[in-house]
Amino acid sequence: MTTLYTLTCDSCGGRFEATRADAVTCGSTCRQRRHREQIAARAATAAAALLHRQTAAVVGLTAPGVTDADRAHYRRELDAIAAEAERVLPRAA
Ligand SMILES: [Zn+2]
Repeated sequence: MTTLYTLTCDSCGGRFEATRADAVTCGSTCRQRRHREQIAARAATAAAALLHRQTAAVVGLTAPGVTDADRAHYRRELDAIAAEAERVLPRAA
């Protein structure tokens, strides 16, 4: 006889029975939603980190007494941030 585990779905919070103890969602709809939510959460974390770097670069660029070498450094950093944003952030549908 197959052992059934009564688990709580990680997506909808509903109870469900599974043959695997490590099942996390109650079905394909919740599995897909959970996957989309994970992608969105990773994008939000990446966006927050990029915004933090961008803010630091703009503050550096506009600080009083900033040298040409500093300005060149911060401009390269801003270009790198823009390129990374292009690479890691999902596009709006
Ligand atoms: Zn579910």
